[in-house]
Amino acid sequence: MRTKIVAGNWKMNLNVVESQLLIGELMDALSTFETQAKIIVAPSFVNLPILAVATENTTITLAAQNVHHKEKGAYTGEVSADMLSSLGIDHVIIGHSERRAYYNDTDTVLKEKVSKALEYNMNIIFCVGEQLEDRKTEKHFDVIKKQLEIALFALDAYAYNFITIAYEPVWAIGTGETASPEQAQEMHAYIRSLIAKKHSASLAEDVSILYGGSVKPANAEELFSKPDVDGGLIGGAALKAADFTAIIKAI
Ligand code: PEP
Repeated sequence: MRTKIVAGNWKMNLNVVESQLLIGELMDALSTFETQAKIIVAPSFVNLPILAVATENTTITLAAQNVHHKEKGAYTGEVSADMLSSLGIDHVIIGHSERRAYYNDTDTVLKEKVSKALEYNMNIIFCVGEQLEDRKTEKHFDVIKKQLEIALFALDAYAYNFITIAYEPVWAIGTGETASPEQAQEMHAYIRSLIAKKHSASLAEDVSILYGGSVKPANAEELFSKPDVDGGLIGGAALKAADFTAIIKAI
């Protein structure tokens, strides 16, 4: 059985005071209703320690937004899987399109990040997504296939217990443009079919595939109603407790 997930990526937003305020609002809101969804929040690295304490014994799981692919060493400004693990952080987003675009997170580096995170038994939200040009030229399926093939397809079946995939068309991230529910469903079903071909239909059935790209309270329910959309990775709307909560309720 695959898990429904709503994950919020706070990106480089919110200082330590603002982070605590938002997590407090979120905890209050979550105490007023039941949800079947797993709730994940990914704050910046510096806010993880204090939020780890604040979310202890709650239904909120914290994730890091990135991890370095090497064990340790002279990599100024980077954060290792060991450091995250020592804080009790066992979820990480890998391959976000902003990391791919601005920080040279190539498919090959991402493969190493995945394997480093798995060494530490970390749960991975692995992001894939095509550029607008790829979609216009009908290369979107090939682009997603290549991203998955390089970073994930050498993994054994056991590793998929730790993998969630987030399909995030780059043209829909932070733009207010959303893939239509049909476009999302089509790509999610394609991703699942690739995993089924690589491993087995039953393994593919158990992998959660999230949609990301301008998910809002107004469009969440329709997106989440699609059979292969198992939840969302939310950027902007995760910064407002009311919006994030409304999205969680839509699942
Ligand atoms: C994201 O950055 O993963 C994202 C989906 O952002 P937004 O919801 O703001 O488009």
